[in-house]
Amino acid sequence: MIAVIKQGASEKQVASLMSWFQSRGLKTHLSEGEFQTIIGLIGDTSRIDVDLLQGLEIVESVKRISEPFKSANRKFHPKDTVVDAGGIKIGGGNFQVIAGPCSIESSEQILNIAQNVKESGAALLRGGAFKPRTSPYAFQGLRAEGIELLLEAKAKTGMPIVTEIMNAVHLPLFEHVDVIQVGARNMQNFELLKELGQVKKPILLKRGYANTLQELLMSAEYIMAEGNSDVILCERGIRTFETYTRNTLDLSAVPVLRELSHLPVIIDPSHAIGVSRFIKPMALAAVASGADGLLIEVHNDPQNAACDGAQSLTPDQFAELCVKIKKVREAVAES
Ligand code: PEP
Ligand code: MN
Repeated sequence: MIAVIKQGASEKQVASLMSWFQSRGLKTHLSEGEFQTIIGLIGDTSRIDVDLLQGLEIVESVKRISEPFKSANRKFHPKDTVVDAGGIKIGGGNFQVIAGPCSIESSEQILNIAQNVKESGAALLRGGAFKPRTSPYAFQGLRAEGIELLLEAKAKTGMPIVTEIMNAVHLPLFEHVDVIQVGARNMQNFELLKELGQVKKPILLKRGYANTLQELLMSAEYIMAEGNSDVILCERGIRTFETYTRNTLDLSAVPVLRELSHLPVIIDPSHAIGVSRFIKPMALAAVASGADGLLIEVHNDPQNAACDGAQSLTPDQFAELCVKIKKVREAVAES
């Protein structure tokens, strides 16, 4: 439920209404916009007398929120959320590129890629240390050592870092990680999501390949319900009957999620398409669709990459893509 507050209501009146809701066991969320102040209510609102509320001097209107996601709902928070990712802003008009290898392989590899992608315009460095692989015999990542190497690259380049968590017991290793990624396979690992709700770091939440947009928002809600509102949503392709590409990039996720939610939305064309030569057109389409950022896999030697070489851009291809991204952003801004 949301209560829209009349313009001119004093801070004291708003505060007293908030404590009235809280005394009835409801969680409140205050959203103060330029033109409208909204109090969002979470919990069992069935016992609230809507007529009584509507009759209060400072209340303009009261609306029930039909969607099951509340904190992630744009009706609760009309303004775009801007997430601070290690000093880099994402969302609300701040567009960022996250780039790096699928997995961290060595100190030279991650540093070389980090320096290259930084020079081309990537704001954040990615790299997997804990890798969710379909086969238990495939490379599983360098784990704790991988995070160490990523931290080294962060120290040398100054780039904030993004890496995936698969188990909450590993959280102490993530102390100096700027953004924690939840991969597609863990989007509905609700116990992990609850733990990440307690963490004071942004969470990059990837859509599961067989999950609806509403399910993605419900997973964001799990994190937010625990107190962490810094969630970045990421579309990374869904499974369809098409086999020519690794997955099918659902670009409609961008306008739909931006309408339903205030959280930033980024696109990962690398995992969606899985074929390096198709990444550029789809990355540019994602920019044109209004995404708040891109996640791109880049490798200095794709042919010999430990993981996802087929979809990785070389540093030169990435540099070329960044030039085009800038042009598309300019064209979209003018239109
Ligand atoms: C990744 O980002 O390397 C990854 C494993 O992604 P996803 O969870 O989208 O498959
Ligand atoms: Mn990958």
